[in-house]
Amino acid sequence: MGNKELRKILTAVEDVAKRDRLPVVVFDLDSTLFSTAPRNLAILHEFIERHHAEHPHLSDIGKRIGLEDMGWNVYQDLRRFGVEDTRLLDRLKSFWFERFFTDAYVLHDEAVPGAADFVLACHARGALIYYLTGRHVGGMEIGTVRSLKERGFPFWRGRCVLHLKPSFEMNDKAFKDDAIDDIRSYLGEVVATFENEPGNANMFLRAFPDATHVLLTTIHSPEAEAPSSRLLLTDDFVWS
Ligand SMILES: [Mg+2]
Repeated sequence: MGNKELRKILTAVEDVAKRDRLPVVVFDLDSTLFSTAPRNLAILHEFIERHHAEHPHLSDIGKRIGLEDMGWNVYQDLRRFGVEDTRLLDRLKSFWFERFFTDAYVLHDEAVPGAADFVLACHARGALIYYLTGRHVGGMEIGTVRSLKERGFPFWRGRCVLHLKPSFEMNDKAFKDDAIDDIRSYLGEVVATFENEPGNANMFLRAFPDATHVLLTTIHSPEAEAPSSRLLLTDDFVWS
């Protein structure tokens, strides 16, 4: 898809609002509105900083590894750079786990190109912005709100919902299933949804067949299901 499709979504938002209905646009956060690569890279650099005395080859990797090398998980990224020491990789795994899901580290995330402008444009045309994320309450909510504000996304101004997972342990898919009921409770019209996980995008398509469903081709989990051919694909939100 190109910017023409994004503009069509904005027009559809306007059309729904003109009919005195509430247009709803749903946005996932991680790897949809935000790139998590800077968060992963910051954690990796910090890990290298702590361990390079013991493992000197890490320093050189630290200099060469960049944002474009960040995939689904940092230990695989480090393995691709030739690190095979499983004890070291295991240590990275827990080091990453302790940091990735926290208020402080989400502040590293950068907005995907055009994302903040596009969400603002939807909001300005009357849409209810429904941020739906697997980030959990009790550790990520403060950072998430700060990050939305700092990256220029609409918030604290009405017609912006932020729905986080009630607990870290809850399964992501089950949470998004529940969220569909909440989205319906506004009695509006879902115009579009944006997701990077094919399984979630397929689920939105089944729940709201008349809406446009966009799959971000950023990164997704390794065990992801096949995306429906009815999903539109994009890697940014550049629309104007
Ligand atoms: Mg996501």
